Amino acid sequence: MTTMEQITALCKRKGFIYPGSEIYGGFANSYTYGPYGVQMKNNLKALWWKMFIEQRPDMVGIDGTILLHPQTWKASGHVDTFNDPMMDCKNCQARHRADHLAETKMDGNADHMSLEELTTFIKEQGIKCPKCGKTDFTEARQFNLMFETQMAKTGEDSTAYLRPETAQAIFLEFKNVVDTTRVKVPFGIGQIGKAFRNEITPGNFIFRVLEFEQMEIEYFVPESEWEQHFDAWVKAMYDWCEVIGLEKDKIHELDVEGDALAHYSKKTIDLEYEFPFGVKELYGCAYRTNFDLTNHENASGKKLRWRDPQTNEEYIPHVIEPTFGVDRSILAILSTAYEEETLEGGEVRTVLHLKPVIAPVKVAVLPLTKKDGLPEKAQEILALAQSFGNCEYDEGGNIGKRYRRQDEVGTPVCVTIDYETLDDAAVTVRDRDTMAQERIKIADLQSYLKEKYFG
Ligand code: ATP
Repeated sequence: MTTMEQITALCKRKGFIYPGSEIYGGFANSYTYGPYGVQMKNNLKALWWKMFIEQRPDMVGIDGTILLHPQTWKASGHVDTFNDPMMDCKNCQARHRADHLAETKMDGNADHMSLEELTTFIKEQGIKCPKCGKTDFTEARQFNLMFETQMAKTGEDSTAYLRPETAQAIFLEFKNVVDTTRVKVPFGIGQIGKAFRNEITPGNFIFRVLEFEQMEIEYFVPESEWEQHFDAWVKAMYDWCEVIGLEKDKIHELDVEGDALAHYSKKTIDLEYEFPFGVKELYGCAYRTNFDLTNHENASGKKLRWRDPQTNEEYIPHVIEPTFGVDRSILAILSTAYEEETLEGGEVRTVLHLKPVIAPVKVAVLPLTKKDGLPEKAQEILALAQSFGNCEYDEGGNIGKRYRRQDEVGTPVCVTIDYETLDDAAVTVRDRDTMAQERIKIADLQSYLKEKYFG
């Protein structure tokens, strides 16, 4: 089983993900996606956009703002209820999620417990502060996870919020999209963007951070059809997991029940994944009813309705929301793809078995030496390979080491140009996973790569 230490070390060493603001000692669980990380993240987002927006006639996209009208968050219920239960250790002042403390002494999840129940349970069980080991906590209290900021404009209230979910930007544009496009219920609006949460206990690398990205869909349906669309979306989420290289056996469905449901949801299925630190939420699919559009209609005074052209019936559509965390996707992909493989002879190679569509480098082009016209020939091959996306050119050092370097960042295929290339117009193509090498004519290279890796 891959460990978090292996993943974080690889990410730092190879330039996937760095600790944020590191020269100042790091900052609040923030992380920078380095050159390979951003490439991988962009591949993931582009794939999602293609699969769920471009290739579906019932979907459109938007790109809304992070700062929305503050009334949005009152109407959506986030100002009043987007809370987590918090407790402070009276000895060392460390802050903790009370439900997470309780979960250390129970099977399953403590989301359903009230503040009083949490306080009593933690005391009775003698649960210790994970930081200092003492058992003296404050009572559990609610802590709102929204980041507040102040606008320069004067007025009675200049408070604005950084969005804690991208969804609300979509609800605010429901009417504009209906009025300006040819969508018909059932249809969806998708968006990719940043969200911010003042998490009490961030951690596990990029799993729980304060600033993260979501890929969200609000899918508008007639109330009578919500169940069939809900099931179809859960299935679509499984298909997506397969496309990005996650293992079906590692996905666990959690039917979220009772008080654990978000304030807007009547049914939620979490897709949990086997991360190196345990089984935790990767994605969620929620039936949000018509809660959000109804509240925004009431608060704004603007009608947010759909008129069925056949029946002329006018109603507020219900909503299915499949939500995909970008950062948790990256962590799940990396931990699934990582392998330390012992080769014949005992050498260990680190390899990332990334799907070609996700891999940050598609093809590495390697001239055997720096002289005798090989680099020039390699540049021709590089130009050809670049039609598949980001490629790398590396002419330094021992060829075996160059292969290993590419294995570690998950490059699916390396193309080597040697002396024979100048005579036979062919190159050596080496596969990352099998390490098998094949001689391919340059004239056939593009179609070969397309068929085998990038089709
Ligand atoms: P959790 O229970 O783990 O706090 P949540 O149920 O609050 O998650 P949602 O509100 O459903 O999460 O958010 C949608 C998705 O956004 C999650 O499935 C996850 O992939 C991602 N996400 C939520 N919070 C964070 C975070 N703090 N850091 C990184 N990704 C997050």
